[in-house]
Amino acid sequence: MTRDPRHDILFEPIQIGPKTLRNRFWQVPHCNGAGSDRPGFQAMHRGMKAQGGFAAVFTEVCMVAPDSDSMPWVGSKLIDQGDIQNLRLMTDEAHRHGCLAGVELTHGSSFCFNAETRMPNRAPSQIPNEMEGMSSARAMSHSDIRKMQRDHVDAALRAREAGFDLLTVFCGLATVPNYFLYPWNNKRTDEYGGNFENRARFTVELMQMLREEITDCAIGIRFPIDTLDAPFGYGDLGIRAEEEGMKFVALLDDLVDYWDINIGTLNWGEDAGSSRFFEANHEAPYTRHAKQVSKKPIINVGRFTDPDVMVKAITSGQCDIIGMARPSIADPFLPNKIKEGRYEDIRECIGCNVCVSRWEKGGPPIWCTQNTTAGEEYRRGWHPEIFVPTRNAEPAVMVIGAGPAGLECAMVLGKRGYETVQLVDAQPAVGGHLNWVTQLPGFGTWKRVTDWRKTQLSLHTHVGIELNTRLGIDDILNYGAQHVIFATGSSWDTTGMSGPIHDYIRGADASKPEIVTPDQYARDGKPVGKRVVVIDHDAYYMGSAVAIDLAQKGHEVVYLTHNESVGPYLRYTLEEQRVHMKLMELGVELLPLQFAVSVEGGKVTSVNKWTAEETEIPYDSVLMVTYRKSECALYDQLQAQPERLKEAGITSIHLIGDAHTPGMIAQATFSGARLAREFDTEDPDTHQPFIRERRLVGATEDDYQLGARTLSMAMARGK
Ligand code: ADP
Ligand code: SF4
Repeated sequence: MTRDPRHDILFEPIQIGPKTLRNRFWQVPHCNGAGSDRPGFQAMHRGMKAQGGFAAVFTEVCMVAPDSDSMPWVGSKLIDQGDIQNLRLMTDEAHRHGCLAGVELTHGSSFCFNAETRMPNRAPSQIPNEMEGMSSARAMSHSDIRKMQRDHVDAALRAREAGFDLLTVFCGLATVPNYFLYPWNNKRTDEYGGNFENRARFTVELMQMLREEITDCAIGIRFPIDTLDAPFGYGDLGIRAEEEGMKFVALLDDLVDYWDINIGTLNWGEDAGSSRFFEANHEAPYTRHAKQVSKKPIINVGRFTDPDVMVKAITSGQCDIIGMARPSIADPFLPNKIKEGRYEDIRECIGCNVCVSRWEKGGPPIWCTQNTTAGEEYRRGWHPEIFVPTRNAEPAVMVIGAGPAGLECAMVLGKRGYETVQLVDAQPAVGGHLNWVTQLPGFGTWKRVTDWRKTQLSLHTHVGIELNTRLGIDDILNYGAQHVIFATGSSWDTTGMSGPIHDYIRGADASKPEIVTPDQYARDGKPVGKRVVVIDHDAYYMGSAVAIDLAQKGHEVVYLTHNESVGPYLRYTLEEQRVHMKLMELGVELLPLQFAVSVEGGKVTSVNKWTAEETEIPYDSVLMVTYRKSECALYDQLQAQPERLKEAGITSIHLIGDAHTPGMIAQATFSGARLAREFDTEDPDTHQPFIRERRLVGATEDDYQLGARTLSMAMARGK
């Protein structure tokens, strides 16, 4: 395999102030749930990308002062000696792999709740934070401004001491520099408010101070060059790329070594755009303006996974360096794979924003649908490219079900060296529920979950695949496998059992012609009438996906949900606003805060969640999105017949993915990977202990390693 010479430009080094970047791959700041309080996690997550060929890896937002406390959202901090100590683990790990380490110096101003420190906020003006309306701030005096600038410089000095090479001052989302810059936040009438020069003064002075005190690190700015129109952004109270955006870049160009340019506001779904609504490199119409006024290297993001698109971004004069957050999460080895011409091995991000959703939920560690090892590098010792050879390769393993869980499980077993692995599915193609979900409008990119695993199975394993084969109990017993893994998925409930009422919706029986589930509609093609009532008692994407599909096909659609908004989890994936807009644009009638109690006589009867008032909604068909039920009957039956299993020579059976517990695709792939990576342990159904990074009284460094005394004791007590 050789690299296409057209991609060589991606591997040209580039000078950034006093530092040299070994190639053009730059992991922009992104949250992962580690911060500086979980140093092992932070170091190994970033270090994996350094090992995979990235030239620069960054922390997430890194707080410069105690009153920039983002809790419960997990950011890094550089506010004391302990933070320096902890983050040095990350910079050492990056350097060990020849990569530069970067930090995103941030003060969140009135965005911060200061939930832990309970300190009052500082901001240019006393304006409440628009996100929650719960957090305000004291308008800074001139001495407060000096102190705020000093806080940034002191944190930068601590960053240098921690070993960081690249110091990015974050002038985006909710940060002090942009609170000064945007009239949206800055209502001052002194020399820090009013005209453009005044509003930019805070940042100009800050950059001058930084340059005076630090000469051996590269110093740059992360800057959204356009804050967009309503309803996505600040309109005239923000900045526009071709006006003050370019002016800001020109004004500060001599004071920076690089620009990391993106777009958007606190409503950052327009920046981290999901694939449901955005193509790769969708920010280019705005971000390309920076190069017209800057002489410094420019980084752009845009869910870049295709090297041709990356090369074009550079050769067209849009940017010099390819910034990546999600693509680097989905594949930390993306640079090396391009470098070595291993294009088919690239595990492309699907743009589902599940990674983003973990931060948005405030706290939990990162999950990735595509990369099951993301966030598990340190605590479970998992490596995305290295698979520990099995200690017991001989027994034949059968995996039933080739959806995300079964595909991942069979692939990892194959890569671990199991000699006989057979993946069997009733359908004519691998992919499970994704085969029909990816046909719904906006979900095509999710096909990458199937495509990548299918390619890996064919290129890197000798796993057998048997399609068009629905297995029953006898088939399984006679198959000749010693281990059987059930990845048989789930299906949307047909009985009308409903979460909001914890009972059956009267008459909601999907064996009737006028009542339809998502699988019956989108997979089996069960016909629906002109006027369709979608009952969405789920919390994620399916309700809106089928409603949009129906409306686009010309149906009259009423969407009813017990939630306040459409699919509340879509808020965490940053898709909520666009989903609502789409439904409204298509004329879908939205009925929030209503739960269905009966579907009878051509009318859905719904009850208002707050008032208990009843409404009757006429329908031709009802599309019932209530909940998914595991397809686990085969497993359950076999588990109840140990003697038959014994007779057949089957020594173990296992249940994974939706067949165990219906969840997000990220949970299904993880569940497949987890079982396969721990398949040769004594009890593979039980998770091996993993490192819980927290203060341990009387701990030594050994206590923070896999297999540590503290972990084995926890395991022993659990038995
Ligand atoms: P998950 O998300 O957990 O991977 P999916 O629902 O996407 O689950 O995939 C489950 C797959 O299992 C489907 O492709 C389905 O055809 C297959 N399957 C279910 N039961 C059987 C069976 N008895 N024999 C063969 N394949 C099965
Ligand atoms: Fe991409 Fe989804 Fe993984 Fe995030 S979770 S990196 S969006 S595949």
